[in-house]
Amino acid sequence: MHFVIAPPPQISLAVRGTDARFPVNRIFCVGRNYAEHAREMGHDPSREPPFFFMKPSSAIVAEDGDFRYPSCSKDVHHEVEMVVAIGWGGSNIAAAHALSHVYGYAAGLDMTRRDLQGEAKKLGRPWDTGKAFDASAPCSAIAAAADIGHPQSGAVVLEVNGEVRQRGDLAELIWNVSDTIAYLSTLFALQPGDLIFTGTPAGVGPVRPGDRMHGRVEGVGEIRARVV
Ligand code: MN
Repeated sequence: MHFVIAPPPQISLAVRGTDARFPVNRIFCVGRNYAEHAREMGHDPSREPPFFFMKPSSAIVAEDGDFRYPSCSKDVHHEVEMVVAIGWGGSNIAAAHALSHVYGYAAGLDMTRRDLQGEAKKLGRPWDTGKAFDASAPCSAIAAAADIGHPQSGAVVLEVNGEVRQRGDLAELIWNVSDTIAYLSTLFALQPGDLIFTGTPAGVGPVRPGDRMHGRVEGVGEIRARVV
């Protein structure tokens, strides 16, 4: 087959312990999945159904690359999150079987133009310009579940310039990985290569060019990105 224009490159992430790579398909993100973060954003964290937004695979910044401060925003926030990498797809996946669809896990940053997201919320508009911009998804290498298991607890931490800004624990997820996959798979047929950003703990805040972000999900991995 040949194309009228060059096809886009396959976006991929390194897989720890191998030189084979994980091809990135779609990126789903869970909103307000830690109670303290829901509160800091002005919402009641009582257990409602989860909600989702998406980023394009082209938003991935792999292998600790630089995060380019985006255009059209003066308030870009960090959100450190555990990322689930789907290896085997499906619809209406039962929570009890959900983890068997997971290839592995990573540490990621759901970078957000908070000013544009806030304006969109106020006007009842979509979040895409606030959430799905270029380079909005720095992500670590993937750790295979075959190697690390399925973490149910562990610190989720983000430091900026060596100072802790966010700290939470995977055990505090309102919708854990199994529940999230089960719910998401009622809305979308999950496909191999899909990523799910599972939500961020409290402490989100702005970054500036020159800042060094260091995210860590205990038992999973670390993500470093310099804001340029
Ligand atoms: Mn997020």
